[in-house]
Amino acid sequence: MRRSDWKSVLDAATSGALEHLDSLPHRPVLPAADHAAIRTALDQPPGTAGIDPTRVVEDLARDLGPHITAQAGGRYFGFVVGGLHPASLGAEVLVAAWDQNAPMFAATPGVAVAEELAAQWLLSLMHLPETSSVGFVTGGQMATFTCLAAARHEVLRAAGWDVEADGLVGAPPVTVVVKSGAHATVLRALRFLGLGERSVVTVACDGNDNVRPDALEQALRTIHGPTIVAAECGNVNTGGFDDFTAVADLADAHRAAGNPTWVHVDGAVMLLAAASPVMADNVVGLDRLDSWSTDGHKLLNVAYDCGIAICRNAAAHRAAMSIQASYLEQGTGARDPLDWGPEFSRRARGVGVYATLRSLGREGVAELVERTTRLARRFADALHESGRAVIVNDVVSNQVLVRWIAPDGDDGRLADEVMAGVRAEGSAFFSGTTYRGRRLMRISVSDWATDEQDVDRAVEALLRHARLATG
Ligand SMILES: *Cc1c(COP(=O)(O)O)cnc(C)c1O
Repeated sequence: MRRSDWKSVLDAATSGALEHLDSLPHRPVLPAADHAAIRTALDQPPGTAGIDPTRVVEDLARDLGPHITAQAGGRYFGFVVGGLHPASLGAEVLVAAWDQNAPMFAATPGVAVAEELAAQWLLSLMHLPETSSVGFVTGGQMATFTCLAAARHEVLRAAGWDVEADGLVGAPPVTVVVKSGAHATVLRALRFLGLGERSVVTVACDGNDNVRPDALEQALRTIHGPTIVAAECGNVNTGGFDDFTAVADLADAHRAAGNPTWVHVDGAVMLLAAASPVMADNVVGLDRLDSWSTDGHKLLNVAYDCGIAICRNAAAHRAAMSIQASYLEQGTGARDPLDWGPEFSRRARGVGVYATLRSLGREGVAELVERTTRLARRFADALHESGRAVIVNDVVSNQVLVRWIAPDGDDGRLADEVMAGVRAEGSAFFSGTTYRGRRLMRISVSDWATDEQDVDRAVEALLRHARLATG
């Protein structure tokens, strides 16, 4: 390709991207999910001769652009989906153009150092032990997998077993303690690690889905040998925080009684709370635990995909993840990314974290946590005051659980009707959950772009559809 061809491709991409980003305040949050129409728009198979790349990008913007969900806009409250910080977007454009395969310092020294710094800044911002190791992986799922692989290594090493060399057949049994409301990805990680989804000991939670320390204590009393405990910083339904001091104390006692013990924290939703002085009460003791997983692409608003795996015991992290091959050039810089995650070839995803942290600053990161929490409370207050809904959780962070009050008693059906109505008109997007046997609506405020007006507009739409649905 000639140099000018890069420009025409980038111009086409920029123009399509800007059209999308500028449309975020007005476009339907969810476009029509019409499978046949989308296929018709996109079904242009590669011909024999191929076509100009600029033309393909223009076609993409025209044909796929209208079918894109406004997840980067301020009124997407479904699941837990972060927005797009402008610094991250800019960094991703550069990362795409640089096209770095980033497993080793020797191959891409610049990216390796940018990731090393982003890692250091994250630890400092969240007040986690500064000698912890950090891996930039694809998401919270893989971050939890990575941390639990390190945990598996360490508790078995302490029991005299080398799991990387000898596998799990014949190994001392590892008991994993998980609370009843734990995220499904924790169980899935256990499946990947050969520990099994059903081999866990499940402990009871309090009313906000935080682990009950007395239940954990009781469970640990019955467990002997290598033990992994999974705690949580930001529950996917309630946004709640486990009592980390209690968990750390119990883990210390369990370890002192001769049981190799590791506590992992799933912080996909709210590990970032550790960066906010206002939220400090919720995270006391968090820094005493052994590993932490979180997402760049949720609250930090880094582009998809980006997860972060953090381990206090860097040696265990490295032992679980590192890989040697005769043709690689390893150990030539301070940090080779391939030692800290399950990937080999990988994109330079830490660069987006580097850029976003620099742009937000310490106060900006704290403010993200505080604002999303404040806006979640604004939702909760308005819906509660309407008399049409009950707020089921204690709103301590960015998550709200809503039970719509149906005159006929079928709250679940009403919740589904309200959510469907709002989605269909495109004014906002909410998703549901089944919580303690009840169908509810969830609200997740995870986007830097969401403001008071977005919340008020969404509340207006919700209440209008609730009135419509109840007559
Ligand atoms: C989203 C989420 C995960 C999984 O993270 P991904 O980035 O989607 O892989 C894990 N735990 C919790 C609590 C989550 O909300």
